[in-house]
Amino acid sequence: MSETLLTLFEEAIRTVQARACFPGTERVNLDEAGGRILAEDIAADVDMPPFDKSAMDGYACRRTDLADVLMVIETIAAGREPERRVGAGECSQIMTGAGVPPGADCVIPVELTEPAGEGKVRFVGGELRDNICRRAEDIRKGDVLLRRGERVTPQAVAVLATVGAVTPLVARRPRVAVTATGDELVEPDKKPGPAQIRNSNAYQLHEQIVNSGAVPLYLGIAPDTEEGLDRAIGAAVSQSDVILLSGGVSMGKFDLVPGVLEENGFKLLFSKIAVKPGMPTVFGVRDRVFCFGLPGNPVSTFVIFEIIVKPFLYKMMGYDYRPFVAPLRLAETVRRRKSDRDQWMPVERVGGDAVRAVEYHGSAHLNALTQAEGLICIPRGTAQIEKGSVVDVRPI
Ligand code: AMP
Ligand code: MG
Repeated sequence: MSETLLTLFEEAIRTVQARACFPGTERVNLDEAGGRILAEDIAADVDMPPFDKSAMDGYACRRTDLADVLMVIETIAAGREPERRVGAGECSQIMTGAGVPPGADCVIPVELTEPAGEGKVRFVGGELRDNICRRAEDIRKGDVLLRRGERVTPQAVAVLATVGAVTPLVARRPRVAVTATGDELVEPDKKPGPAQIRNSNAYQLHEQIVNSGAVPLYLGIAPDTEEGLDRAIGAAVSQSDVILLSGGVSMGKFDLVPGVLEENGFKLLFSKIAVKPGMPTVFGVRDRVFCFGLPGNPVSTFVIFEIIVKPFLYKMMGYDYRPFVAPLRLAETVRRRKSDRDQWMPVERVGGDAVRAVEYHGSAHLNALTQAEGLICIPRGTAQIEKGSVVDVRPI
């Protein structure tokens, strides 16, 4: 294999983001649109509200008549058009969401009225707002409501439904092949023999891929041999946009992934990141297929996916992933002996507004991560962050 290509974390992010290429578009039904990234702007085809609408159950009338006994001339249910104009001394009983009849300029909520004889009501007094939502006060026909590159949230689905955008154009989801490498691995449904462990990375990655809006494609465990890895990479290339290999990227005699990737025509853009955990991370490109060689240790795999692969997958789909960072206090001082790398530390919440580092005694300590709710970054050159300092927490 060629020489090790060491890169700083921010360079690694820049390198992968610059390579991300769009996997194309497709139309999906509304019930499949959630979590997808829009590939078109969505404009309103209607005004909202489409007519002057009552905000209350009550009586629509003229404000100048509020002191009078009002004759009820009609009952207007939501979904029905008013039939009569409200004149002097008159009102129409109206339901929330129904169109306000012509002539009326306010709606008295039912709780501010009392009966005043057969078919008549009276305003009992107090401050009275119009209680009319004006036509187009929320949305004007032609307004662009959602933009290309936005992620479809449940709220955005409501907008799509409102404007009848029932088959929005979205980015195709990248297909992400996953292969776990290692002769020591058995699948989770097997009892590990001596010297074996269960493959957890492939399943962890599956969840992370799904949560990032991409499509996972599990290709099984590959052995630590050149032929085995060669076969796995060959299979992955033919059916995916992105390949994730776990393990086989560090300094051991059987860590063959970078070499086999190069033999398969991948150009390695880096093979080490100055980051902890996850230093031996490899990124290779072959035409429009991208391969990440992730460190085998589950904590490293998890963190590198979060900080490198996930932003890359989103970028492919045209989504500018900017995690919502929360500034929170450190409940306990964090210290480290060496400060030559950026270190991403899993943290858990303490009380309402503080976090502490999750204790884990090495990158293999995967159960420690189940308590983690966020990551903080200790920049290279910093050995200690004092208790009470405010740190930026990236939720996971
Ligand atoms: P490697 O990067 O292949 O040297 O693996 C580093 C460590 O991670 C070793 O202790 C492996 O046993 C462990 N490991 C590798 N792959 C997996 C996996 N798929 N699931 C759980 N642990 C793994
Ligand atoms: Mg291995």
